[in-house]
Amino acid sequence: MLVQFPPSNPEVDLNTTYDAVIVGSGAAGGMAVHVLTSHGLKVLLLEAGKYQDTSKILHSMEWPYDHPRRGQMPPDYHALTAAEYNFRDRPYAQNSPYKKVTSYVQGWGGTDYSKTLVVDEKQNPTTGTQYAWVRARVVGGKTTIWGRLALRLSDYDFKAKDRDGFGENWPISYADIEPYYDKVDLYLGVSGYPEKLPWLPDGKFQRPVRLTYSELHLRKTLQGMNRTLTPYRAGVTTDGLKHNKYRSRCYGRGACNRHVGGCDIHAAFDSPTGLIRPAYDTGNLTMRPNSTVHEITVDKDTGKATGVAFIDSETRKSYHVKAKTIILAASTLESARLILLSKSTTYPNGIGNSSGHVGHNFCEHVMGPSVAGFMPDLVGKPRTIDDGRPGGFYIPRFQNLDANSKSGFLRGYGFEGGSGCGMTPGSVYDTPGFGEEYKKNARRMAGATIDIGAFGEVLARYENQVELDPNVKDAWGIPVLRFNYKFGENEHKMCEDMARTGREMFEAAKFEILSSSSKMLTEGWSIHEMGTSRMGDDPKTSVVNQFQQFHDVKNLLVVDGSTHVNASAQNPTWTIMALCWRSCDHLADQLKKGEI
Ligand SMILES: Cc1cc2nc3c(=O)[nH]c(=O)nc-3n(C[C@H](O)[C@H](O)[C@H](O)COP(=O)(O)OP(=O)(O)OC[C@H]3O[C@@H](n4cnc5c(N)ncnc54)[C@H](O)[C@@H]3O)c2cc1C
Ligand code: SF4
Repeated sequence: MLVQFPPSNPEVDLNTTYDAVIVGSGAAGGMAVHVLTSHGLKVLLLEAGKYQDTSKILHSMEWPYDHPRRGQMPPDYHALTAAEYNFRDRPYAQNSPYKKVTSYVQGWGGTDYSKTLVVDEKQNPTTGTQYAWVRARVVGGKTTIWGRLALRLSDYDFKAKDRDGFGENWPISYADIEPYYDKVDLYLGVSGYPEKLPWLPDGKFQRPVRLTYSELHLRKTLQGMNRTLTPYRAGVTTDGLKHNKYRSRCYGRGACNRHVGGCDIHAAFDSPTGLIRPAYDTGNLTMRPNSTVHEITVDKDTGKATGVAFIDSETRKSYHVKAKTIILAASTLESARLILLSKSTTYPNGIGNSSGHVGHNFCEHVMGPSVAGFMPDLVGKPRTIDDGRPGGFYIPRFQNLDANSKSGFLRGYGFEGGSGCGMTPGSVYDTPGFGEEYKKNARRMAGATIDIGAFGEVLARYENQVELDPNVKDAWGIPVLRFNYKFGENEHKMCEDMARTGREMFEAAKFEILSSSSKMLTEGWSIHEMGTSRMGDDPKTSVVNQFQQFHDVKNLLVVDGSTHVNASAQNPTWTIMALCWRSCDHLADQLKKGEI
């Protein structure tokens, strides 16, 4: 029986000087909480959102017909569409007739359950260039709904500049972070199959997800093309975790794809059950939800951070709390906003921003190119249970691995994909026709369809940047972010290549292609924001050191995706947590030695 997360008491002691105040409770904040409390430090976690029990609200196994709107949000809610991101004036939700406007992800099926986890664009506007910014303001942040593809980076990423001359190398190499990836794998559980690829290092895997017939066929075909198809590396415990009583193992209930992420038995990692609740049990953690931090305060004599100022997200009352160290984990863009908001006579450009690099070198993944098709041998075959698994498959990058490559663009991309019978088979979207004939065809094709979609590295360029908008404020009166961010020529060329190689792989496997696209989706679609406070050895061109400590302010850290030097092709969350673990170990050591 799973133990419920207890409601927290917001009446926390704000007269104490905590060893650490952590801002944000998602992947990064949760990991900081886990590591620092394990070291015996007294930690206060401040989270802007409220606590919501996803065991109760996600209803992962509810059938669509048991919901009054088949899982859709009420009519007075609206999820922004792809087109709206392009043509609407910013802020996107201004003058909207809907009561609540959310990001595009709430447009997927079954999102009524997660509608309270994500932000309302009316309360949380943005300005500037188009950007589909997906945010979850809740204890656990975006980990309550994430897609769980849990991948490692390699020296192809950390030392990418050495290979192609673009951008900067990271100040660490794979050997520095490998032990921490291992710790994350073992503490949280990751399912996968070892492939021994230098550009996608293997983890300490639990039982892999099962590949379908067509996926095994594609895997075999790709072996002949020097490419790999591997079972989805899911941040899901498939074997169970003896040390965590708040999470169940995955029973392969096949509900992963039904709603926007979210697993109500927490087999899929989420920060509240994977990290925060166990940290409570140490007795070293205090958590205050509904706490919107708007400034990091500074001692003007020492230049050190003294604490944070925050307002209660519901009552709007102002508070201040003191701490020996401040850990920002509000997510890449929110942390940048907070740094820029923290202006003082000591730090007129924002705390720790003497380099002027905060907000810059912002990067992510470009998405859009995709191929859908079917395996002719499987048409009309009896139905099989293929969706009893937390993911399909992953095709790691294969371009530009050789330094002499002539692809015409820099860096790489990977494909995520899936196939087989599901409650809503992919075939229903791609089968042409109407009525009886359409239904018959959709059923015949149900287990035969297969699709892939690419995620590619967006180059970290100085000019891609966020800053504070001088005029527009959010519902709490805090200046919002203005985006100045665009895909460039490299991303356009990469997308053309994604579409070409996607088709090439399907053709090689003798799959019939139903549709394919080379169109890129709006900036932000990948929900993988990185950069904005990159790490490095040189304080003139980077914001933090390799332990995510500000060059200018040693008792201030930022432990989310902000510090990533480049985006790589791999999803970021596992790397965020491994880096955070490493930095918090280092911080605890420094605190013990009195070096901070
Ligand atoms: C639908 C979806 C699918 C995804 N799929 C994948 C995937 O397959 N693989 C992968 O690697 N990643 C995936 N991601 C991305 C992943 O969720 C993020 O990389 C990860 O959650 C980032 O962790 P974080 O702690 O930096 O930010 P978050 O998880 O967003 O947490 C930040 C927290 O900080 C809080 N906060 C913000 N501002 C303040 C403030 N001023 N004061 C106090 N608190 C504040 C927020 O409320 C939030 O709870 C997906 C995300 C979504 C939404
Ligand atoms: S398939 Fe596994 S991870 Fe997905 S919802 Fe079911 S139990 Fe959770």
